[in-house]
Amino acid sequence: MYLFDIDGTLLLSGGAGSRVINRVFERRFEVEGAMDSVSPGGKTDDMIFQECAIAKLGRELSRSEVDSMQEAYLSELPEELASSPGFRLMPFARECLDFLVIRSPQMGIATGNVESAAKSKLARAGLSHYFCFGGYGSDSAQRSELVSAAVQRGSAIHGAPIAVEKFVVVGDTLRDIEAARACGVRVLAVAAGSCTIDELRAAKPDALFETLEELPAWHLAEF
Ligand SMILES: [Mg+2]
Repeated sequence: MYLFDIDGTLLLSGGAGSRVINRVFERRFEVEGAMDSVSPGGKTDDMIFQECAIAKLGRELSRSEVDSMQEAYLSELPEELASSPGFRLMPFARECLDFLVIRSPQMGIATGNVESAAKSKLARAGLSHYFCFGGYGSDSAQRSELVSAAVQRGSAIHGAPIAVEKFVVVGDTLRDIEAARACGVRVLAVAAGSCTIDELRAAKPDALFETLEELPAWHLAEF
């Protein structure tokens, strides 16, 4: 069962999420450029909001602050995605999913996005129908725990226990690799840009691809 990361693996939102987070921080705290010093790759939405707060406010946000700011973020995200000039699918993402969905139809998501943000991004990309479950940033601020949530939901959908090594995370950052390893799940890394191919290789994923075009051949060899 495949568990796909979203940002940098399936699509790029062209900075839509960062623009909305900046606006939310501006309105609430009158600080500009909250995302300027934060690199979001592989992080959960909670971690990203807290890093912005520490950088700009010198303190962490309370749970209720995070919740109310994420509510504003989620309400504005779909429109920002719709109008984002840089929004695009990653190379061969749709072709790869078309190949997999007839061979491994129960595919899931493992992303640091909170669930509603993940669904907005997949809908904008026209990819929602490939996925029937997931683990999200709204399940845990810790990536390994949201991968674990995805594994549990995948097993529940399957209707019978599945060996954990049958799950395969597909992601673009060291954090995807670390989280998969922590759960005993296999992991395929795609060198999309937020981590270099050398950085990813050093973390020893089960396979390393330049693009998703290479995944179908791996699938045929493994399953
Ligand atoms: Mg990613």
